[in-house]
Amino acid sequence: MGVRVTPDPVIVLHIAGAGRSGSTLFGSLLGQLGDCFDVGELGYLWDRGLRQDGRCGCGAQVRTCPVWRRILQEVFGPDGPGEEEVERLARFHRATSRGRDVASLWLRGRLQEEPSEYRAILARLIRAAASVSGRRVVVDSTKPVAYGRLLDDLPGVQLRVIHLVRDPRAVAWSWLRRKAGTGADTMRTRPVLTTAAMWNLGNLAAMGSWAGEPGRYLLVRYEDLIQDPARWLRAAAGLAGITDPDLPLIGDSTVKMSPTHTVAGNVGRHHSGEIELRLDSEWSNALPPAKRVLVECATYPLRDRYGYGRTR
Ligand SMILES: [Zn+2]
Repeated sequence: MGVRVTPDPVIVLHIAGAGRSGSTLFGSLLGQLGDCFDVGELGYLWDRGLRQDGRCGCGAQVRTCPVWRRILQEVFGPDGPGEEEVERLARFHRATSRGRDVASLWLRGRLQEEPSEYRAILARLIRAAASVSGRRVVVDSTKPVAYGRLLDDLPGVQLRVIHLVRDPRAVAWSWLRRKAGTGADTMRTRPVLTTAAMWNLGNLAAMGSWAGEPGRYLLVRYEDLIQDPARWLRAAAGLAGITDPDLPLIGDSTVKMSPTHTVAGNVGRHHSGEIELRLDSEWSNALPPAKRVLVECATYPLRDRYGYGRTR
């Protein structure tokens, strides 16, 4: 066997925040930059990608996608992970991620029952994703924040955090309406007050965990990203140390997307070709007034802090 050269640390660009904030799209956009490989929601690889036989962003099943096969072989050997191993890792993921935003918000130190074995696998997986794709930045949009904290100080991996925030009324509407999606991609619905609570927690936890470290934290509003994608893509690339990135933009708001190899995320990750970035303001007409007031009250004052004032 030849001697393997130890490469530079891999950078993981983690998109954190509350669910339905547009992280799938942001991840796909970043994945178009030459140095970046977008893996989607990596934490759901075990459950949605492998156990439920979900599809990769490229259209193939994750299990049979040539890119993921090689990544999994690099971590688990020629046969990839066995069924029991996948079960165990899916359990690890559920145990470390569920309902832990509160914990990560209040416990600024490491979580007590930190699963070092799961962290070691994640580190190897991220490094394998970088080496197979030939990119040095891996973009991971797994929620919740407690998952992101597992990525802190992984061996051979440097964490950079993009905190993506979106108007809570748009998020509430996204959780209310039914959206297309099949199998592992099916999008669940959720009542507005639950959404508001999750929005507060997800954003507070992201700020509480990383906002004090300007060199590795960037706050981005989804609405700003859509209005000026060039500016925010450059800022996000800069956070990962990429200067002068080759942006996938055709004109101001149309992007050219190549297929992704994302293991989980919303259905948009399967779209490629020319895509026009447009702010979806359907919520402003469609969200029933009583529900809108509920969301507005329940997300105050954080909503104000991010500049999402009350509208008529
Ligand atoms: Zn693929």
